[in-house]
Amino acid sequence: MTELLRDYSLQSAEVPLVEECVIDAEERDGLKERIRTGLDALGATLVAHYYVDSDIQDLAEETGGLVSDSLEMARFGRDAAASTLIVSGVRFMGETAKILSPEKRVYMPTLQAECSLDIGCPPDEFAEFKAAHADRTVVVYANTSAQVKALSDWVVTSSCALEIVSHLKGRGEKVLWAPDKHLGRYIQEQTNADMILWSGACVVHEEFKAQALLDMKKVYPDAAVLVHPESPASVIEVADAVGSTSAIIRAAGELANDTFIVATDRGIFHKLKQLNPTKRFIEAPTAGDGATCRSCAHCPWMAMNELRALDRVLHDEAYRRDNEILMDPALGRQAKRPLDRMLEFQIR
Ligand code: SF4
Repeated sequence: MTELLRDYSLQSAEVPLVEECVIDAEERDGLKERIRTGLDALGATLVAHYYVDSDIQDLAEETGGLVSDSLEMARFGRDAAASTLIVSGVRFMGETAKILSPEKRVYMPTLQAECSLDIGCPPDEFAEFKAAHADRTVVVYANTSAQVKALSDWVVTSSCALEIVSHLKGRGEKVLWAPDKHLGRYIQEQTNADMILWSGACVVHEEFKAQALLDMKKVYPDAAVLVHPESPASVIEVADAVGSTSAIIRAAGELANDTFIVATDRGIFHKLKQLNPTKRFIEAPTAGDGATCRSCAHCPWMAMNELRALDRVLHDEAYRRDNEILMDPALGRQAKRPLDRMLEFQIR
């Protein structure tokens, strides 16, 4: 059972243009050194997503932090010994870190880094949606605000959504799903669960084009196609492997192919190439005949995580104060329950 509401996908004008920050090698090296020193001076741990700037990914790993998907970022941030976390990703990732560790200080290179799925799921409208389907178990994707998480029974990421919805189906529960319609539909098809779907979308994955991908396959007939399930169904149909960022990285290592066409944010190419130096990775097309793309396989909000912003949050106190994640304690406690449920489910 599927019910699509009004379309909560963002219009093109609502999506910021990707800002490419061009810096020369000397400035880059200087910034990286200042960031190492700044992390040390603050006693902070850097936790970064696969989609952010490759220098920031490297800095996270070399300073004892982590680069990973949102599920592992949440777990790592919760378990980290440091009392200060710098979360390089988008706002819901910083909020998740704060919810799980309210005693820690959590800063981001910029709080302007949003997510189209989070923006496209306003808490008041979601509360009405939930009230209209009170008999259902509420499962929300991690890409939501703390307020929406607080209204849910379960939080999931793309790494564990299939397993958790299968588990709920096994218990005879009907699901209310939000906000990504493509991921929701994919999970529904895979599990055959009774799901009602919110109608949000990721501005990056929604732009991948099936026909252009099929055309690309003709040019690279031996390539395997790796697709994130936030992509449209027609793109998923072409895939050799479908899964979260971690699953895509695993598949690239396990499949015997030498060439891969990858339908997710191109930030992931840094880790893919690091782990598979002899393999070739090609961006899946975002533009078909006469079409244009707005985000063009790179999330504009992830792109706001650039070295200068990270340097500033470490060295400029006023800027740091402005980019700290603050959380009402009662809201944090409400939002933590479904997050804890997800993290506990993983270790069963
Ligand atoms: S890539 Fe898509 S889902 Fe991920 S943060 Fe950007 S808009 Fe959100």
